[in-house]
Amino acid sequence: MNKLGFGYLRLPKNGDELDYDTLNLITDAYIEKGGRYFDTAFSYLGGKSEESIGRCLSSRHPRDSYMLATKLAGYDVKSYEGCWRQFETQRTRCGVEYFDVYMLHWLNKKNYDLAEKYNEFAFLQELKEKGLAKKTGFSYHDTADLLDEILTKHPEVDYVLLQINYLDWESDAIQSRLCYETCVKHGKKVIVMEPVKGGRLADIPQEARDILAEIDADASPAQLAIRFAQSLENVEIVLSGMNSMQQIEENLADVQPLTAEEMAVMQKAVAVIKGATAVDCTACGYCLKHCPKNIAIPEYFKLYNEYMRNPADDWKITPVYDNFTLKSGKASDCISCRRCENNCPQKLPITQHLKSIAQAFEKTE
Ligand code: SF4
Ligand code: SF4
Repeated sequence: MNKLGFGYLRLPKNGDELDYDTLNLITDAYIEKGGRYFDTAFSYLGGKSEESIGRCLSSRHPRDSYMLATKLAGYDVKSYEGCWRQFETQRTRCGVEYFDVYMLHWLNKKNYDLAEKYNEFAFLQELKEKGLAKKTGFSYHDTADLLDEILTKHPEVDYVLLQINYLDWESDAIQSRLCYETCVKHGKKVIVMEPVKGGRLADIPQEARDILAEIDADASPAQLAIRFAQSLENVEIVLSGMNSMQQIEENLADVQPLTAEEMAVMQKAVAVIKGATAVDCTACGYCLKHCPKNIAIPEYFKLYNEYMRNPADDWKITPVYDNFTLKSGKASDCISCRRCENNCPQKLPITQHLKSIAQAFEKTE
């Protein structure tokens, strides 16, 4: 069993530039090893993700050797005609005639209302009828109750893209399990994003590693995290944002589904991991473009997590923070406008965390 999809979001880089040589290599290796499913979106990397699909995938591999999914930034289009304009840009960027899966990006209450206002579900159907999208769906970041309402109103979609990993499985904020069960109830196949929670589940405390070793002592924490999502019956694809050959090799290895007992063992590791992490940020960067003070939110959260694990290391962490503030706003520059919080898929209390960060790193002598 391997349901691994290639998420074109966290792509390999050389400094600030995308590393296309590595991206070609790992794209080819993924296909050679039997991988088929690529996932991108209009907004990923400001359009560079879709352009990379054109450059590294569609111009170098036959169209029937891969499946391609992308997403409409429906929260930005402002009209039905706007949907078409964005779709045509996507086809040009990606260098394809049709998409295997076409989704509305990031439905939550606010974006769902916009999707209804601009008839975006009708747009998905029109694409399907014209053969421009083989299957349709949406990515989702809100409660299971709202998901139930959407799927009741729109039984025509094929897929829901959900954030699922063993850390968020029982989370009140993310509601992974409840959302998954809602999809099962409506007979919808699930595609999984963030199975390793933005890399967080690749680097877990030793105590949590020891717990996971009870399941498979040879598997890495990241492999086990991906295996958790792959083991769910209604899950068809598990996306992983891979940027190295090692990740391709590891993640495409043949895996056995976890048993219910093994999944229960994983839940024992959750308390340990949560206890060792002050801020549950996945470094997705969605908050950044909304911040009027240009605060390097995910970078500060990463430093703060290191600091909270080892407060005695503040002598080496604080200078790194100071360096960031030369180009970015400081944590104390936050004006609590909460634009970041409204765009954080993890629903983090960002403003509150920034106050703690300012206290930790901006001490005056
Ligand atoms: S609340 Fe603070 S961090 Fe968030 S967008 Fe506003 S200024 Fe930036
Ligand atoms: S704070 Fe939220 S939106 Fe910003 S990078 Fe972290 S998880 Fe993503």
